[in-house]
Amino acid sequence: MSSMIIDGKKFAEEIRSEVKIAVEKRINKGLQAPGLATVLIGDNAASKVYVRAKHRACEEVGIKSLAYKLPASASQTEIETLVAKLNNNPEVNGILIQLPLPAGLNEEKVLGTLSVEKDVDGFHPINIGRLAQKGRESIFIPCTPAGIMVLLEKAGAKLDGAKAVILGRSNIVGMPIALLLLKANATVTICHSHTPDLASETRQADVLIAAIGQPELVRADWVKPGAVVIDVGINHVDDPSTKRGYRLVGDVAFEEVSQVAKAITPVPGGVGPMTIAMLMRSTLHAARLADKLH
Ligand code: NAD
Repeated sequence: MSSMIIDGKKFAEEIRSEVKIAVEKRINKGLQAPGLATVLIGDNAASKVYVRAKHRACEEVGIKSLAYKLPASASQTEIETLVAKLNNNPEVNGILIQLPLPAGLNEEKVLGTLSVEKDVDGFHPINIGRLAQKGRESIFIPCTPAGIMVLLEKAGAKLDGAKAVILGRSNIVGMPIALLLLKANATVTICHSHTPDLASETRQADVLIAAIGQPELVRADWVKPGAVVIDVGINHVDDPSTKRGYRLVGDVAFEEVSQVAKAITPVPGGVGPMTIAMLMRSTLHAARLADKLH
């Protein structure tokens, strides 16, 4: 059996073009372009790459982006003062604090300072708290898990009554995707670095989400035939045969697992492009919310 490859790049392009059309319509109606402010603190190389990609995406869809950079030595107060300023800036509909913050800063406190209505990444304690509670709706859902839900829908995955196994319990991927799958009536198991036998858990999964950052850990014999597999991992492995000297692989051994799974996301080109597309959608949502509030 060979899997359906879930083409995140294509679905992300579709979402970006929907956002672009909606932004054009807003502007034609005399409304302001949605505005996204990014806050980058310190010199983390990966964070710089992600922030650049977010600004490029904004430009492509007509969202106005404002970049704020602070040195790694910035104090908690300086950051919170900047966030308060952005909360009060009507040109800014969404605020994205690029994580992780440099050591010594209180991430929870910074995120708690964000206006809930501008929290396009969905990490404000109120937004995450609502995600965890039955019958409550968060205004924004973290972008990577939100993108995964779209990919599952596109793959035709049946979630109601399904057994979903998630590898990883981070605040940005593992935990929020677990909450979303629970809301979709899946029976959810969350595995992590203290889980004694990962494979015995993953073999039961109708839907398997791998978000651990371990290159190709998930092998074919870990996967139930016919499962839908979403590979969130982005790992650099040395490869002298490539120009860059490395290649990107996921947490799933794609070649062999694609012989067993019903559908699978590739790395790159699966979850990654969806994250930024969902951020564009969330920023548009934030602008619409601001129209109603003001
Ligand atoms: P993290 O380091 O914050 O969390 C990793 C989680 O995996 C932890 O809960 C840990 O307990 C678990 N884990 C680690 N090694 C394990 C092992 N051997 N067995 C079982 N559990 C293990 O990572 P994260 O931020 O959630 O990211 C996970 C991966 O997803 C990384 O490769 C990251 O680059 C990638 N990622 C991709 C996107 C995207 O848009 N595609 C977004 C975020 C993260």
